[in-house]
Amino acid sequence: MKLQVSEIKAQQGKPFPFICQVDPKDLGDMSAYPWSQHNLTIKGNVRYESQRYIVEGTVHTEGEYECSRCLSPFMYEQDIPFVEVYREFNSYDKLDESDEWPIDDDLIDMTEMIRELLIMNEPYQVVCKEDCKGLCPHCGANLNEGSCQCADVHIDPRFAALRDWLKKEE
Ligand SMILES: [Zn+2]
Ligand SMILES: [Zn+2]
Repeated sequence: MKLQVSEIKAQQGKPFPFICQVDPKDLGDMSAYPWSQHNLTIKGNVRYESQRYIVEGTVHTEGEYECSRCLSPFMYEQDIPFVEVYREFNSYDKLDESDEWPIDDDLIDMTEMIRELLIMNEPYQVVCKEDCKGLCPHCGANLNEGSCQCADVHIDPRFAALRDWLKKEE
C-alpha cells in the first residue's frame, strides 16, 4: 500500500495508475469487520500537482454479513471511493490542523487512510436484497423461502383475544 513518489513528482500532472491487493491484517486488528476475512483491492491513480500528491480511487471489500431483516448470512461487497491529498510536511507545519496526509521517506503510505476510510464507511445495517421479506413475526420462518402456516392469520394482536373467543364458541 505504499507508492514511490519520485517518478510521479518528476512528471507533474501525469496520472499514474495503481492497483494492489491488500491483506486486511496489514491494517491492524480488523477482525470485528466481516470484510477482514478477504483481501481488499485498491485501485486508482496518483498525480503530482501544486506540490501535492492527489490520490484517488476505490477500495473494494467483500465479506459475509448477516441480513438485518432475515438474519441469513450473505456476501456483501462495497466499492468505496476516495480522493486524498498527500504532501511533504515541513517541521513547522501543524499536522493536526490539516486534512492532508504526510509523506515519509518519499513514500505515500495509504495504510492509515484506508483503515479510516473503511471504518467510516462500515454499514450499520445491510439487507441481503432490497425486497427481502424478512422473518414471520409469529413463527420466525424465513418468508423469502415461502409463506409459513400462519400466513393467513396475521391478525392485529388486539383482536387475537376475540379470535380465540370465537373459536371457543364454534
Ligand atoms: Zn434478508
Ligand atoms: Zn409464520
